[in-house]
Amino acid sequence: MTDAMVSQPGYWARKRYFELYDRSLRHPEEFWAEEARKLDWFKTWDKVLEWKPPFARWFVGGQLNACHQCVDRHVKTWRKSKVAIYWEGEPGDTRVLSYSTLYGEINRCASVLKNLGLRKGDTAALYLPMIPELPIFMLACGRIGVTHTVIFSGFSAQSLADRMNDIGAKLLVTADGGFRRGNVIPLKEIADEALALSPCVEKAVVVNRVGKSVPMQRGRDFWYHHLLEDAVPSVETVSVESSHPLYILYTSGTTGKPKGIVHSTGGYLVFNHSNYQWVFDIKEESVYWCTADVGWVTGHSSIVYAPLSHGAAIVLYEGSPDYPSLDRWWNIIETYGVTTFYTSPTAIRMFMQHGEEEPARHDLSSLELLGTVGEPINPEAWLWYYKHIGGERCPIVDTWWQTETGGIMISHAPGIQLLALKPGSAGFPLPGIDAAVVNESGEAVAPGEKGLLVIRKPWPGMFLTLHGDPERYKQTYWERFPGSYHTGDYAVKDEEGYFWLLGRADEVIKVAGHRLGTLELENAVISHPAVVECGAASKPDPIKGEAIVLFVILRNGYEASDDLSKELVAHIRKVVGPVATPERLFFVAKLPKTRSGKIMRRVLKAVASEVDIGDVSTLEDGASVDEAKAAYEDLKKAV
Ligand code: ATP
Ligand code: MG
Repeated sequence: MTDAMVSQPGYWARKRYFELYDRSLRHPEEFWAEEARKLDWFKTWDKVLEWKPPFARWFVGGQLNACHQCVDRHVKTWRKSKVAIYWEGEPGDTRVLSYSTLYGEINRCASVLKNLGLRKGDTAALYLPMIPELPIFMLACGRIGVTHTVIFSGFSAQSLADRMNDIGAKLLVTADGGFRRGNVIPLKEIADEALALSPCVEKAVVVNRVGKSVPMQRGRDFWYHHLLEDAVPSVETVSVESSHPLYILYTSGTTGKPKGIVHSTGGYLVFNHSNYQWVFDIKEESVYWCTADVGWVTGHSSIVYAPLSHGAAIVLYEGSPDYPSLDRWWNIIETYGVTTFYTSPTAIRMFMQHGEEEPARHDLSSLELLGTVGEPINPEAWLWYYKHIGGERCPIVDTWWQTETGGIMISHAPGIQLLALKPGSAGFPLPGIDAAVVNESGEAVAPGEKGLLVIRKPWPGMFLTLHGDPERYKQTYWERFPGSYHTGDYAVKDEEGYFWLLGRADEVIKVAGHRLGTLELENAVISHPAVVECGAASKPDPIKGEAIVLFVILRNGYEASDDLSKELVAHIRKVVGPVATPERLFFVAKLPKTRSGKIMRRVLKAVASEVDIGDVSTLEDGASVDEAKAAYEDLKKAV
């Protein structure tokens, strides 16, 4: 933690914000009903909340349509000529879609889906690169009441097949390929392998992205551009009840087998519409860019549904951050005049490693607000981001949320408050979010004490259940602290009410009876000027139970040496204490990451423990088994 405070706004903002927050918790149903009225409902709800713990239904009886909220609403206004999507492909090709062109594309796409026999209640799997067709298919599904599941285009055939089988997808939408660092990922070939394992899928639609000839199975596979020839230009929106599942999304699987998170339509959209305004202070003229992949929840809520529900202009970029050169992102910000930029700590640390010269070569003065999500951000990376990207001018919103929560839960919210920022702290729970830090018996801990983060009231964006497994939903999230949602994350609430997220509760190393969070260890190492990133893992130890093993990435300009290793050991002993003395410290060039950019813990642990990767866990994670193995071999070679 750091005491540094950035910007010192007045007392009034604090007071007004906490009045609003208190009111939202005292009268949650009134509060959320007021928020819900900001959307267009075909029929108003009969009941704001039906809470049969742990199952919540929001805006019961209300009827609406997600595509209507995100697109139809805007084309009835001047926004029809406003830019909805600035798209940039990795090779440098671009497309600009106004709200009215987006509307046309979605309607024709919905017509294609209908012609293929899809109806309300069916599910479709979307396995696409970051091209405009991805949001177009999502919204077209929503338009006709089809539930979508987006599978990140970096997943293997097996992961794709598992997910399609789990939800019983009727249709798969993919592309001939996708660009990644100048190479073509053969999506259709991977999809073919998956289709062989997924008998539930009847048809496949293939978008022509890379102009590659791919095998097409007659009667099953269809080129999208051929199907469009028979599409009609306008398809009516299908009205759905508020709890109709808009989508099912599998968690990134850092901790275990991916869970099929089911999100509603009404509650989900209300929650995201509101918190997007609060957190990003979005204005009509904003140009908003979230760098996440649409395949993660951040992409669903913060690229597609929330921004478009506001009629915002978004940037969508297909490729890697460092391709063809390290300034690709800064170039995009400059080109489109991005005002609002939202990315992950792992990306910030990657750029930090390469120094500030790259961003300095670009005009980033259009930026007004920065955000991060996905992991706790260490104060060094926060300050680097603040200074070198935001020009010490832009507030940073560090947004804490999960696939399960549907939208942002804890964050600063410049749209409604201007409280001083503390680097490394996410700030405050948003209105309506009853967040608390509790001990093992569920009692709130004292300020400054570490505990488990729970949410004590239902909120509209919360997931409905785990697909096909309501028992697991109950057990995983609700049994530990009856009546409260168990997030699985550690947190501290400081004396001023700021929340500090401290990583997952299951990422703890037990050294001689002491429980040390991997995050705590990693942040201690990163606070040394030579280090840009660190992964902490454990190996079994006959005496201490577990011993600490560190994998360290140095900043450019620093050389690995025994002396530096000793210095880092001394540093961590000083910051955390002698109990944190690592047994081994390895300098490495990169860390194994899941596709969503989080450290692959099981790979670190396998290398640290000198056991085979297969022995650590048979569970799947954000990378395929093969990828985990490759990362394991890479790391083993490096140490
Ligand atoms: P799984 O639940 O399958 O193990 P996952 O938790 O990585 O995977 P996500 O839902 O994508 O899947 O990630 C949510 C988690 O990411 C949170 O529980 C938290 O640990 C971390 N996280 C997200 N945003 C932040 C943030 N701003 N600060 C700290 N941690 C964050
Ligand atoms: Mg999780």
